[in-house]
Amino acid sequence: QAALARIAAHDDLGAFLHVDAEAALTAARASDARRASGAARGVLDGIPLAHKDIFVTRGMPSTAGSKMLDGYLSPFDASVVERLAQAGAVSVGKLNCDEFAMGGSNEHSAFRPAINPWSAPGQPLIPGGSSGGSAVAVAARLLAATTGTDTGGSIRQPAALCGITGIKPTYGRCPRWGMVAFASSLDQAGPMAQTAWDCAALLQAMSGFDERDATSAPLPVPDWLAELAQPVHALAPRGTAQQPLGGLRIGLPKEFFGDGVQPEVLAATQAALAELQRLGAELVDIALPRTPLAIPVYYIIAPAEASSNLSRFDGVRYGHRADSPRDLAELYTRSRTEGFGEEVKRRIMMGTYVLSHGYYDAYYLQAQKLRRMIVDDFQAAFAQCDLIAGPVSPTVARALHTGEAVDSDPLQDYLADIFTLPASLAGLPGLSLPAGLGAQSGLPVGLQLMANYWQEGALLHAAHLLQ
Ligand code: GLN
Repeated sequence: QAALARIAAHDDLGAFLHVDAEAALTAARASDARRASGAARGVLDGIPLAHKDIFVTRGMPSTAGSKMLDGYLSPFDASVVERLAQAGAVSVGKLNCDEFAMGGSNEHSAFRPAINPWSAPGQPLIPGGSSGGSAVAVAARLLAATTGTDTGGSIRQPAALCGITGIKPTYGRCPRWGMVAFASSLDQAGPMAQTAWDCAALLQAMSGFDERDATSAPLPVPDWLAELAQPVHALAPRGTAQQPLGGLRIGLPKEFFGDGVQPEVLAATQAALAELQRLGAELVDIALPRTPLAIPVYYIIAPAEASSNLSRFDGVRYGHRADSPRDLAELYTRSRTEGFGEEVKRRIMMGTYVLSHGYYDAYYLQAQKLRRMIVDDFQAAFAQCDLIAGPVSPTVARALHTGEAVDSDPLQDYLADIFTLPASLAGLPGLSLPAGLGAQSGLPVGLQLMANYWQEGALLHAAHLLQ
């Protein structure tokens, strides 16, 4: 009831696309009954949370932030939705996001923008995106935790811009079943919350093999909360109670600390790194030389996969259908013209172009080869260090645009993805945690930690010790 009241009082933040108070209260009462009879299901039982509207849900509409799916009701729950409900968590609704998770500002939601709670009155700032509603709900303390998805940074970047914690696990850790697909080789679900501990609690329930997702990893899920309870970091060879990260090698890629980063972002990042050092970590200089290629590679591969995934929205099977078309071709064309927003159309066109005959080899195939080299860069780096650290976003939250201005300069936002795309392309886990506030703007800055495959525990523990 407290969460619902706070959500209603702060509706102007635009965090939610749908709230189901009745379903939430029913689930909460069931949790109360379990607690009363000593049958509580664990730390998440009774905790109110909400899902990014990319996850399909039975009984609540699922829009993916698009007019195309306005009013769509899924006949089933996404895997991670099902799993969190099974753990006793209470879902209160669906969270705002960029349309089909394409964007980094939440301005591309077909319904309304979400607003960063750190904005000064009358000067709205973006919360980041695409999981903007998920970040706003936690940052404004509407909920303790939310789910998000990250294809190229959509958990880490809004977490950073709103001053909360979020983790994109290793590709394959959380099942994609029931996530509206954007770029299937990159899409991953993950939790967003105030702390690494809270993220670990959610991730624990969300992770693990699911046969309905062909890329779901058949690996056991470690007990991350038990790892977090250890006084010394597992990868720290000389860890002690005073210096729990003793001897842990943290690599700083020089490409992440260059000219394009706002001075206040650099300063806050460096202050957080000094804190890691104080906890015993050794900072080592490393290189990820293909970092500048991450943007062109991602903006070929992700739109290519999107153009294929979004071909299912044809006005026939589900979603928006144009009125009285003359023939089938017009049904397809008008349904898609009316249903998709500008950014989605831009991606579909880019993707169709790079996959078309004559351009496939020049763009798509080249991008795939470079993606492999980005993976190789990381593996070379992990020979020299245990974790990698750097900024999440080169800037703090910018002003929110409305109307025509939203689509005036898409490249500007693409360029701001530079530090989150590498881990996405490599399928590596990445975590964003608050590094402090920018000295000029007073706005949150995030610190990004990356680890090798399946080492989410190492990220969560380092962040937990820092928090
Ligand atoms: N900002 C990136 C994009 O626009 C990432 C989106 C995401 O991770 N879903 O594609």
